[in-house]
Amino acid sequence: MARDNHEVLEVSRDPGLVRLERAFRWLATALHLDDPGVTDGRRIVTCRRCGKRNRVPAVATDVPRCGNCHEALPWIAGVGDEEFAEVAERVSMPVLVDLWATWCGLSWMVRPVVERLAAERAGEIKVVEVEVVRAPRMSQRFEVCGLPTLMVLRGGEVVARQYGALQTPALRSWLDDALRDQGDPQSSSTSTVTIASGPSPRPLQR
Ligand SMILES: [Zn+2]
Repeated sequence: MARDNHEVLEVSRDPGLVRLERAFRWLATALHLDDPGVTDGRRIVTCRRCGKRNRVPAVATDVPRCGNCHEALPWIAGVGDEEFAEVAERVSMPVLVDLWATWCGLSWMVRPVVERLAAERAGEIKVVEVEVVRAPRMSQRFEVCGLPTLMVLRGGEVVARQYGALQTPALRSWLDDALRDQGDPQSSSTSTVTIASGPSPRPLQR
């Protein structure tokens, strides 16, 4: 094993390969391959029923459906301040907003849970991922004091808010409660729960 590693290190120092690697990295960035799910502002989503890959736009008048079998597709869009109103507020269905930051470890823990819920509730909710460094106005408007913050919006109004990380069953339960309550602002639920064994939620201001 040690010898294999040594050989790999020798190869990686080859100037030609280093140049090749740099070229690939430049190409990947130019083509946005560093975020493999997104090209041309559309997220590539594989249909869970038939396996066809579909391009799902951030904005559409109807629920995105598979071009092959018409199954509802998970609808996930990433936005900053500029796109938030169009993508998250002018939507007829409930929107689950995930405010996150690259430097926040709990954000990375919550991300796959949120995306799983987007798949489970395809056709019922839209998920909007907001990177806070791209959305200072949104962070201020929604008085985000820590990350990750999840909110359920209905027509731009917050009907539920969740701060910190939750595991899938708890987050699913919170979401279901929020979707049930969505027509009645008086029953808005606000909670702060973290995974018992995990680290505390990160404050927004470092
Ligand atoms: Zn399909």
